[in-house]
Amino acid sequence: MRARLERDLGALMLVPGLSGHEDRVRAAIRARLEADGIAAHTDRLGNLIAIFEGDAGVPAVMLFAHMDQLGFIVRRIEDDGTIRVHRMGGVPERALASQAVLLCVGEGRDVAGVITNKSHHATGPHEKYTVLRAEELAIDTGHASAEAVHAAGITIGTPVVYRPHVLPLAGGRIAGTSVDDRAGCAVLLEVSRQLATRKRGPTVHVVFSVQEEFNLRGAVVAAQMLAPDIAIQIDLMLASDTTETAGLGEMRLGAGPGISLYSFHGRGTLNGVIPHPAMVRLFEGAARREGILLQRSAQVGILTDLSYVQTVGPGVASVDIGFPMRYSHSSLEMCDLADLEGLSALIVAALAHIGPGFSLDRDAG
Ligand SMILES: [Zn+2]
Repeated sequence: MRARLERDLGALMLVPGLSGHEDRVRAAIRARLEADGIAAHTDRLGNLIAIFEGDAGVPAVMLFAHMDQLGFIVRRIEDDGTIRVHRMGGVPERALASQAVLLCVGEGRDVAGVITNKSHHATGPHEKYTVLRAEELAIDTGHASAEAVHAAGITIGTPVVYRPHVLPLAGGRIAGTSVDDRAGCAVLLEVSRQLATRKRGPTVHVVFSVQEEFNLRGAVVAAQMLAPDIAIQIDLMLASDTTETAGLGEMRLGAGPGISLYSFHGRGTLNGVIPHPAMVRLFEGAARREGILLQRSAQVGILTDLSYVQTVGPGVASVDIGFPMRYSHSSLEMCDLADLEGLSALIVAALAHIGPGFSLDRDAG
């Protein structure tokens, strides 16, 4: 299982797919599903959906992870060929100077670029410890005029991402682009393979969703159409095992998958997820039976599209499950393959436990 996860994650991390421009990632995921004989369809927004029909009378599940990534959109091309961008998603400006990027104009024609950084020899003492706002940054592609930039296919609205790469590290750890949430997608592929061969269980709608990093609403469209009873979102859990994050929680890289007991985003959206108690019992029980350590998360400042999915229709019993990750939203995010393996096994075990009589009644005791 670990070799498949590593192969899928590595391949998907190398495919650019800015929010709203997920076509190449979707094609890569679809090809992997089809290679295993699993059919999938795309809705109008771009969500890729594979349905595993299950037993009647058992609560239906939507299991989802987002396939889009954050990045930039070209907003202006200067006469000298430098390119100005807007950030798309929570791109940390602290992590941007001198990063390599890819301007996505078409497969095989993509243009490499560098985010500018003032030459050190020209940097005064007062500038050394300041961070430029994204509006002040520019991208240098080597093209020396606006005409040359246009001729390369770049125009206002062109999507830009961190230059995709994968960096295998010691101890089964992997760093690189868009671990958030290609790692979730790799886990969904692994779970899908196992669902394809199961004998019985709930209907499971596996959704590779779009536009999470943009407006957190892509998965809502899928939920409205599929009308699941249960929603399980697979995404990162904020690792708090580095010196700069210690104190935020107890989530450790390599110590197993995680479950979120509380997430809240106070910066304007006033949204988050408090999981349904039946979902917490389900995953805690599955972890116990499988001998998997399940780490617990309670974080402020985290928001996923599950926050919106949970309010669809009569309400959807929801839970965030995920893998510990370091350095979120920077060009080098990091996860541990052992956590992805444990997460895949945990999800399969939990789904198998949803059968006749599985109650979502909050008053049933
Ligand atoms: Zn994510």
